[in-house]
Amino acid sequence: PVRVRFAPSPTGNLHVGGARTALFNYLFARSKGGKFVLRIEDTDLERSTRESEEAVLQDLSWLGLDWDEGPGVGGDYGPYRQSERNALYKQYAEKLLESGHVYRCFCSNEELEKMKEIAKLKQLPPVYGGKWARATDEEVQEELTKGSPYTYRFRVPKEGNLKIVDLIRGKVSWNLDTLGDFVIMRSNGQPVYNFCVTVDDATMAISHVIRAEEHLPNTLRQALIYKALGFQMPFFAHVSLILAPDRSKLSKRHGATSVGQFREMGYLPEGMVNYLALLGWGDGTENEFFSLEQLVEKFSIERVNKSGAIFDNTKLRWMNGQHLRSLPAEELTKLIGTRWQSTGILNESGGVFVEEAVDLLKDGIDLITDSDTALANLLSYPLYSTLARQNHLKFCQDVSMKDCLSAVCSSEGKPVLEDKLTEVAASLLAAYDSGELLGALGEGKAGWQKWVKSFGKSLNRKGKSLFMPLRVLLTGKLHGPDMGASVLLLNRAGNSGVVSPQSG
Ligand code: GLU
Repeated sequence: PVRVRFAPSPTGNLHVGGARTALFNYLFARSKGGKFVLRIEDTDLERSTRESEEAVLQDLSWLGLDWDEGPGVGGDYGPYRQSERNALYKQYAEKLLESGHVYRCFCSNEELEKMKEIAKLKQLPPVYGGKWARATDEEVQEELTKGSPYTYRFRVPKEGNLKIVDLIRGKVSWNLDTLGDFVIMRSNGQPVYNFCVTVDDATMAISHVIRAEEHLPNTLRQALIYKALGFQMPFFAHVSLILAPDRSKLSKRHGATSVGQFREMGYLPEGMVNYLALLGWGDGTENEFFSLEQLVEKFSIERVNKSGAIFDNTKLRWMNGQHLRSLPAEELTKLIGTRWQSTGILNESGGVFVEEAVDLLKDGIDLITDSDTALANLLSYPLYSTLARQNHLKFCQDVSMKDCLSAVCSSEGKPVLEDKLTEVAASLLAAYDSGELLGALGEGKAGWQKWVKSFGKSLNRKGKSLFMPLRVLLTGKLHGPDMGASVLLLNRAGNSGVVSPQSG
């Protein structure tokens, strides 16, 4: 049976690289009807924290990558935290000692340092060549009696090579002569990372190890331990690095790199998951838009690319927009409405105003957070601040009207349409004063359309020469979402009291 694992070290936030590894494991498990195991690698006691573990779990859940076994859900192969598996490591370390794959090494740190220096002078690889690899039982016994501290050191075959067939990279092989005997348990009884991982993967019956390319050197050591313990080796798949656009390793200096940061920036889990999947994988067609379910259906490890994948923020943003717009209207409305209320722009999170506003503005936004500016923009100028506050288009009577409008127009880099605005503005003011415009708006879309038509007729204008000045006068902008819908919404904002007084 297929059993894969994601094995984060809880020493910080979940980064996009880790999230992609988790996703590939999840997709592999789900597409094969296998199990997705979550294991917490907290052997580094100093750097591991429970807060970080919780944050990582929360990020995985947010992405929708639920695990079948692990913290919070349990399972037959627990415990799922390395810090709780010490007895097991100890047991296997003893087994290796008995079989002679491991020996006790009593070398002090000073001795080891000295050996390294000598190797360096002789231009030899820094491999352990100390005497404890060849010590007699008597020599060992003597140190034990003295109570000297010792590590458990793994005896690496001195020649030959080791090969694995990686599911992504193909054949990978290492010469063993450059790998020295390595420590698997420290003198304080603390097992070493590579040893824990091997014991865990073997005893948790992991069938496929899918992890980052940077773990390849570990794979060599782990493979040797598998063999020594007589465990069957899993399949390995090492996923390539995620690179910044300049092809350097993606890091903080390139901007947001953790899943939590993207969530706070207003990204959707759907958009994140889809984009992460495309970092090194594609289904072989032009299609790039996938839901998590579709990814499960299409994913295959053989299609994962072995070259590095470039992390492109612009594309991620675009992709998020695609997912945002494909959410069911009700869900999107709830999401954005709740946000508008919590940020204080609106004093309610639902209702007709919110529904209409979301529908009007959604095409112009990629992130949930973009919706703040989009709404603030819409509410920021004339109709709301004048009509809505029953100021009778006061700005039209001000001497400063031209200045005001020229500010609007020139700020968008367009020459001012002064004369046209003046003429249209006078008629618009009359239509407002007579109640005609508000009456029409009260009748909704049909009312607005009918009014615009007759308004245009009375001025002998249509098309651009009608709509441009009207748009500027009514919304304060040369461009924007559908004018009729915008104006109707502004009118609703004025009448409904949905907009908080401090905004707009
Ligand atoms: N704990 C390791 C990490 O966070 C993963 C080890 C593995 O997948 O084998 O990078």
